[in-house]
Amino acid sequence: MTIRRSLRASLRRVGSATAVGLSVCASAWAAFAITGLGEPEPKPAVLPTLRERVFVDRIDIDAFHKGNLHAHSAESDGDVPPADVYRWYRDHGYAFVALTDHNRRIDPASYAHLERPTFAILPGEEITMTGAGKPVHVNAICHRRKIGGGTFDTKSLALTFALEKIEEQGAIALVNHPNFDRALDLDDLWGARATTLLEIWSGHPYVYSAGVDGRPSHEELWASMLSRGADVFGVAVDDSHHFATNPTAKPARPGRAWIATFASTPDKVTRDGVCNAIRAGQFYASSGAELTRIAVAERTITIRPADPMARVEFIGPGSTVLSASNAAGEGAVYRMRGDEEWVRARIVDSRGEIAWTQPFRTMVREAAPVP
Ligand SMILES: [Zn+2]
Ligand SMILES: [Zn+2]
Repeated sequence: MTIRRSLRASLRRVGSATAVGLSVCASAWAAFAITGLGEPEPKPAVLPTLRERVFVDRIDIDAFHKGNLHAHSAESDGDVPPADVYRWYRDHGYAFVALTDHNRRIDPASYAHLERPTFAILPGEEITMTGAGKPVHVNAICHRRKIGGGTFDTKSLALTFALEKIEEQGAIALVNHPNFDRALDLDDLWGARATTLLEIWSGHPYVYSAGVDGRPSHEELWASMLSRGADVFGVAVDDSHHFATNPTAKPARPGRAWIATFASTPDKVTRDGVCNAIRAGQFYASSGAELTRIAVAERTITIRPADPMARVEFIGPGSTVLSASNAAGEGAVYRMRGDEEWVRARIVDSRGEIAWTQPFRTMVREAAPVP
C-alpha cells in the first residue's frame, strides 16, 4: 500500500468511527509524513487530532503472548548462531521473537523446524545507519526483503530512509534506543512520528533507557510524543547479544524486557497473527512486571497485575497522573470522564519492575441515536 493510499484508508476509517468508543491508538495515518527517498514532506498544516482517529469499542483480555522484537545472533554482533537465539526464547516461555541482526534479514522459513504451535519466528532486521555521524537504528519487523543501512548527512534523512523502506513493504517500524550515543532527541523523534513503534525500555545496559546527562528517559520521550499527538506504541526489548555463559564479560543478556500481545487464541501463535497484533497496538510492554487482565469497557479501564502488591497509575496527556492505586483483588479500575482524550496505565510491581499499556483513546462524541 502506498503512503497516500494508507492515509486515505485511515481517513475513511475515521469517518466510520462510532459515537462512543475506546481503543488502542492506530498508527496508519501517521505514515503520510514520509515521502520520496530522503525528502521530508512539509509538515501538514492540520494534523489529525486524537479525536479523529479510529476506534474499536471494547476489549477484555486475559491471555497474552510474550515476545521480543530486538535480538542479535552471530550473523551480526551476537555471540551464538540464529538457531540458538530462537531456541533460547522458545525454551524460556516466549511465544515469538524477531531476530534483528544489523543490516541482515534472517529468513524465518529457514528455521521453521524450530517453530511450534505456541512459538513463531518473525522476520526482522536492524537497519543500522549513521546520520550526521550519530547512530540511527530502526528495526524492520515482519518485512519480506532485506533493506540494509547507510550513511546520511542528517539524522532526519536516515530516519526517513528507514521508515519509507519499511512502509514500502507494509512492514512494522521500530525506532530503537534514542539515547544510545545520545543520538536522537524529541525533535528527531517527532520527525519520525510515522513509526509504528518506539523503544521505551531496553535490556541493553549501554543505551541509557532511563536517561543520561539530563537527557530524558525513553519513556519520557514517548510520553512527550503522545502528548504532542503522535500515534506511536511503546515497546520494551532485550536487544540481546550475549547468550553464552559469562554474564560479566558479555552483558547484553536475554530475558530482561518484552512485549505481551493480546492472545485471541492462547494455544496457537501464528506469524501473521502476531504481526497484526503488533501493528494494531494490541500489546503491553514490560521490563518484568506482568499483567493478567486488561479490560476496557464503555467507561472503565481495568488493569489486573500478576503481583497484587503492584501499583497502577492511570496517566493522561501531559503525563498527568489521573489516578493511582494498588491493584489488590480484581485489579485497578479507572472510571473515564470522557474528556481525557486518552489514558494509559503504568504498573510498577513490588520488585520495582514496570509494565506499560498503550494509550486507550477515550472518545465521547455528541450522542448519536442509540438503535
Ligand atoms: Zn541498535
Ligand atoms: Zn540491536
